[in-house]
Formats: sequence, C-alpha cells, structure tokens
Amino acid sequence: MAMMYNSTRDSRVSVSSAQAISRGISEDGGLFVPASFPALTPGEVAALTEKTYIERAACVLSKFLTDFTPEEVEACAAAAYGGGRFRDPAVAPLRELPGGPHVLELWHGPTCAFKDMALQILPHLMRESVRKTGGGDIVILVATSGDTGKAALEGFRDAPHTKILVFYPVDGVSPMQKLQMVTQEGNNVGVCAIRGNFDDAQAGVKALFTDRALGERLAANGLQFSSANSINWGRLVPQIVYYVSAYCDLLKAGRLKPGDNMNVVVPTGNFGNILAAYYAGKMGLPVGRLVCASNRNRVLADFIETGVYDRNREFYTTTSPSMDILISSNLERLLYDLSGGDDGEIRRLMEELRVKGRYAVPGAMLEKLRAQFAAGWCDDRQTADTIADVYKKYGYLCDTHTAVALHVYEEYRRRTGDETPAVVASTANPYKFSASVLEALGESRADEDEFDKVESLHALTGCPVPPPLAGLRGKAPRFTGVVDRREMEGAVLEMLGLG
Ligand SMILES: *Cc1c(COP(=O)(O)O)cnc(C)c1O
Repeated sequence: MAMMYNSTRDSRVSVSSAQAISRGISEDGGLFVPASFPALTPGEVAALTEKTYIERAACVLSKFLTDFTPEEVEACAAAAYGGGRFRDPAVAPLRELPGGPHVLELWHGPTCAFKDMALQILPHLMRESVRKTGGGDIVILVATSGDTGKAALEGFRDAPHTKILVFYPVDGVSPMQKLQMVTQEGNNVGVCAIRGNFDDAQAGVKALFTDRALGERLAANGLQFSSANSINWGRLVPQIVYYVSAYCDLLKAGRLKPGDNMNVVVPTGNFGNILAAYYAGKMGLPVGRLVCASNRNRVLADFIETGVYDRNREFYTTTSPSMDILISSNLERLLYDLSGGDDGEIRRLMEELRVKGRYAVPGAMLEKLRAQFAAGWCDDRQTADTIADVYKKYGYLCDTHTAVALHVYEEYRRRTGDETPAVVASTANPYKFSASVLEALGESRADEDEFDKVESLHALTGCPVPPPLAGLRGKAPRFTGVVDRREMEGAVLEMLGLG
C-alpha cells in the first residue's frame, strides 16, 4: 500500500515520500507526517536481530518510502552506512554501563555527532526523490546550532545538482563545531554566521523557504529550495532505524525478551531525535517510557510537566549548545499525532505560538502526552558532575549532551523506581566539546587552544581521538562572513550568483 504524507497544518495535503523529501516543508508552513504508520511485527524484529545495520535500515525505511523500490532504498542505505564511512562496524553500537543504562553511540560518522545518522543518507534519498518528482537543482538551506551544519555540509558536499548554504549563530556554537564548518571543503558549499541565536537562524531560514517571490526567482533559474533540517521527513525517518537497531541488540544480548519494553532517554533540542523513538513505538516496537532530557533551556521539560509551551523566557548559553533551543520545530509533529490529526487545532496552537510565544494544549492531549513521556533537566554544574561521575564509575567518557541525558535518567529512575532496561542516546563524541569535558574532570586549561585541549583530554583519559577532529588542526578557514538576520536573503542570492 502506498504510504502518503499529510501536512500538520492541512490534512487535505497528501503527498508521496519523494515529494515530502524534496519539498522539505509544506506550503502552508506545516510539516509532513505519515498518514498512517506501517507495522513492524515481532517476527520482523526477531529476524532483524541477525542482520547488519544496513539491512535493518533497508527494512525500516522501505516501509515508509513505498514510492522507492527496495533496491533503491538498499542502495541509499549501503551508500550512507557502508564503505567505512562510520568508524564502528556496528554503525550505531550499544554500550552497556554495568548496572546502569545502555548507551547508544550515534557519533561514529564523519562529523562525530548523531546528525550523521540521518545526514549521511539524506542526500541519497533526496537525489532519488528529486529524480522521481522531476524538480530542478536543489538549494539546501540549513540553520544550525552546531552539529547539523557540519553534518549537512559533509553529507551534501560535491553532490551533483545541489548547493548547500549553512547559517549558524555567531556566538552559539563550540569552537570545534565552528572550525569544522568554516574549514568545510567542497565546491557547492557555503557557510555564514548570523548575529543572533539559533532560533533567529531557524526563523530566518523558515522565512526564506516560505517567501513566494524568492521561490519564484529560484524557479526561474531552474532551482528549488529544500531543507536538511530535522523538519525534513528524510531526516527523521532514518532516525527511527537506530531505535529498532538498539532493540534488536538488546534482544541479541539477552537483556530483553521479545515483547519486553525498552525505555528511551534522549538529550533533546529540536525534538527530532526523541520523536523518532516515538514513531518507532507507533510502528509497534515495544517502546516504554520516553524520557526527554533538557538543559537549562528547559522549555520542553516544562511543557511535558505542565502542557504549557512558553518560549517567553530567558535564553541561556550552556555547555550543551546543540540543545540551546526555545522553539522545537518537531514538537508540531507530536502535537498533530496527539490531537488525532486535528489540523485546525495545530493551526491554532502554532498561531498562538507565533503571536504570544506560548500555548497550552487541551487536557486530552496532555493526558496522552504524559502517558508516554517523562522529562527532566539539569544545569551546567550537574552536567559536569555527571561527566566526572560516569567516568569514575564506569571508565566511560561522555560529552555534555549525553551527560544531560544520563543525569536526567538517573533522576527519573530514582524518582519512579522504573527499572525497565533503558537506552540513552549518546549524541556526540566527547572531543567535540573538549573544553567542557576537561573542565568537568577538574582540568581547566584556559590557556590552551582547542587542539591542545583535545590532546590534554587524550593524555588524561586515553580515550581515542576521532581522526576527523584531529585532522582539523592547521586547516585554514574558508568562510568568515557574518550577517544580520535581514541580510540572509542577500547571502543566499550571492552564493547562488543571483545577487
Ligand atoms: C542536534 C543535537 C541534539 C538535539 O537533537 P534534536 O533532534 O534536535 O532534539 C542533541 N545533542 C547533540 C550533540 C546534537 O547535535
């Protein structure tokens, strides 16, 4: 049966997956969501335990991408996850912390953060989608809080018929994240800093996408915008795979019996990663509690507690910058699902968010939300303490984002006594945030540069430094531009040679 996708803001919109992926966002400003969820049966899950990550991916993705042939899906999965592009043969290995949770390491790809899990395959899915829908050349615009930008640049570099331009908040990314982006190679890439925070960058990109005049100007030049942000369905669907994969690994290790629940804990920013776990549950994977972990920008943790989403609050710059977000775009997809596909309700809530910066969901939706989600948050001090504690207790070095999740999980477990086997998503390699991790271990090396810190952390822990990060040393920056939000359109036109 053909899988179709609706817009969260207009249920009458019905498109194929190729259309959803090549367009990125619906014209009404809504996000594309599956009209129904394909089933993953217990028998299929059992069969996948003996399969490779590529095979697991092909199975799960084929169920959603019904307008792709199985061979096309397999080829995309093999191109993304094969050929040594991921440094671990398991692609997304699961590490057990004895007596503690299982850590799902999602950062063995080329940029050392979990965004690679989706952004290595998205260019392949997009190429096929554009071929099927007969569109023009693609212009990818990205707003990033750090990791998406680099992963998108790396995924799309030198992809035929594609250009990519990344905007990042000038003071909102870590030194390593910035270095990774401004040194990016490839002849179809651009990187530009904007004055403002991530939400400004994201709002700016969204405004460009929905600007009719700009869209027509691009079309006249044989170009069309698309998005590599997690609002793109092609970003979200590959993320479902690793939760299925983690469940298979737990079965294989005898930590679960078929049908047993698995809890999932996710350090959350834009709500994409945790939504993928929710969608895995909708397919029938036995997902128990979904624990949303926030940093001090705890707009999501508060929402799950109270049903009130309120972005009218101070914005903090934290040691987990990829979660420094006050507008979580993918939450709209969850709301749509919780409302039973009530597009009018979503339009109302999103309009309230736009006008008042806040909304309260109806009681029935809050009840459904709280039936599956739990939440918690921690500050930078607790994050640092967790890095030190986990290192001492298990000899396991984790980054700041993963530490937020580990902290929130321990608190959740203490509070509820819930001993269901848990998988904590580990979203970045610790060397991406060397300064914060070193400091957490009691070694403040304020006088050292980013690479000295990497070496100090290595000397202290012996934890291997991923080659893509070590290789950045001495690389010259290519992109030094900084613009205001209202100058973003000009930056895009200039990059496209239409300025
Ligand atoms: C993007 C990111 C997150 C947040 O993921 P969302 O899907 O936006 O919720 C967490 N940690 C790291 C390291 C990231 O790069």
